[in-house]
Formats: sequence, C-alpha cells, structure tokens
Amino acid sequence: MIKGFSLFAALMVMTSFAVNTNISGNDGHSNTPHDVKKIALSFDDIPRHKGAFLTRIERREKLINGLQEGEVDQAVFFLNPARIDKDEFKEIHLANIDAYVDAGHVLANHTADHVRLSDMSAEEFLTDIDAAEKWLKPKAAYRPWMRHPYLDEGKGDKAKRDKVRAGLKQRTLLNGYVTVDSSDWLIDSLAHDAVRAGKALDMKALGNLFVESHVQSANFAHGLAMKTLERAPVQMMLLHEADVTALYILDLAKALKADGWEIVSADEAYADPLIEIQAQNAYAAGTLLEMLASDKGIAAPRWYERNTPKIMKKLFNERVLHEESKE
Ligand SMILES: [Zn+2]
Repeated sequence: MIKGFSLFAALMVMTSFAVNTNISGNDGHSNTPHDVKKIALSFDDIPRHKGAFLTRIERREKLINGLQEGEVDQAVFFLNPARIDKDEFKEIHLANIDAYVDAGHVLANHTADHVRLSDMSAEEFLTDIDAAEKWLKPKAAYRPWMRHPYLDEGKGDKAKRDKVRAGLKQRTLLNGYVTVDSSDWLIDSLAHDAVRAGKALDMKALGNLFVESHVQSANFAHGLAMKTLERAPVQMMLLHEADVTALYILDLAKALKADGWEIVSADEAYADPLIEIQAQNAYAAGTLLEMLASDKGIAAPRWYERNTPKIMKKLFNERVLHEESKE
C-alpha cells in the first residue's frame, strides 16, 4: 500500500522539480532529483508525563493509529529507560513501548534519565548512556542511535563534547541527530497550561498551528540543506510523546504528503552520510543542519523562527486562545 503511494509522491515531486532541478551536484548513481523532499519522524522522551487531554494509553493509541493511517511505517522512539523503571506507571509504559514496537517502530537511546551534558562530566554522561544501552540492547527493535537530551552537546565545552563523541564511537553508537524541529513540546505545554487555567481552546486552530508550523519547519530545513549541503538529505523531524502531537499526527502526515514530502523510515533517514558528519559549531545546540550551516558561514536565518518561544507563544495566544497580544 505504501509503495503505490510513494511512487505517486515521487512522480509528483519529480514533475514539480523537473523545471528547476539543478543536476550539477548529482551523485551520478541515479536519476533521482537532488532535491526530492523525504522525511522520517522521531518521538523523544518515552515515557513522557501525562498531558492535558489523553490518558497514557489513549495517547499511545492515537499515535499508533495516526502513524498507521498516515502510512508512516517506521518511526523511531527515543527512550529514557530510568524513567520507566522508577515510575509508578511502569506497567503502562512497558505496554506502550511494546505496542510501538508491534506497530513496526524502532527504539533508541535518549540517555537513561534525560540528563543534560552541560550539567555534568563526560564520564557521568556516558555512564547514563550505558545504563540506557543495557535496557535497550536486548530489544529486537533496538537501533544504535543516541540523541542528546535538549540537543545539548556541552555548549561551548569542546573538550567535553569531543570526549563524549569519542565515547559514543567506542560504543559504536551513532548520532541520532535532528534536522527539523518546531517545538511540539512547547505547543503541548502552552495547551496544557491553558487547560489548567480553565481557558477555552480553539482545538481546530491548535491542530492547524501544530501542523502548519511543522510543515513550515520541514521546508525551512529543506532550504537550509540545499544551501548548506547542496543536496536534500532525508530530513529527521523531532517530535515528542505529547498529547497535542498524538492528536494531530495524522493531520501532519497528510499535510506533509500534500506538500510534496515522502515519509520514509528512520532506517532510511539514518542511512544518510550525514550520520558520520559532526558539526564543529562551538555552541552545539539546535538541529544538525543549523549547526552545519553555521560552520559553513551560511547567512541567517539559520533558525526556524517559531522555535523562538516568544514567537510561538504569541501565535498560540492569538490563534488558539483568541487573545490579544500583550506586546
Ligand atoms: Zn528529550
């Protein structure tokens, strides 16, 4: 079923780019246009705290069904295993993870306890990674990918960053990088706060804001990749196991496809040569493309603007709460 669609999507994309495809940088091994838009989806912070709209089980069902209906055959779920074992909802968390795996998705390392590299030594950080590996490795759906919590690679501390990079290499762990981000966690958190405060939410507008921002961010990343790499890698979108994400994941999958994106597996995304490329940017937080663009001296904007919390919050207040801006 997915094959038929993929071919259709690919033809659509080829047709739409036929006029302006730049073939000068083609790698030569196929006639595939250089700027075909492909994307994979990832979900962080499993198990995540309960949200404002769904139970943990309802959220899992929404996510799985939305992905299935949206023909997303394989997403990756980045786990924090210490949060499973020490939690009173352990059994539900385990059942949820089993359900993600049964639905065809894969599991990877987000540190055991969602720790921030800037807050600790390289040794402490690697110990936490090892604890997560111990839990994850026996699973059939395990993949050797590690994603830094908060996308924090130690900020300005290059020596620490390089120690961790060397430690990951020694463990044959690959960089579970992100190239597309639109702060779904922030949209979810703003919605959560509004529900708690007893405010009325325009749920249709909430879905539109979530979907529109993520499609825009994907296109922003596509443009940034073409400028920085002069080719289109498979993009990797960062999402979370959050209520708003689960509620609108099907709408997002449909909107991406309508916009010319082909949604592919996490395995295909991380087969890209980008997985071996380490950014040198001293700040080292943000998506991999943003860091590589900075390394290469690509002119701003290198940052998708709605990832600035103030901008997203203003849009949320205006569109979802229909509140006047207080600026
Ligand atoms: Zn995280």
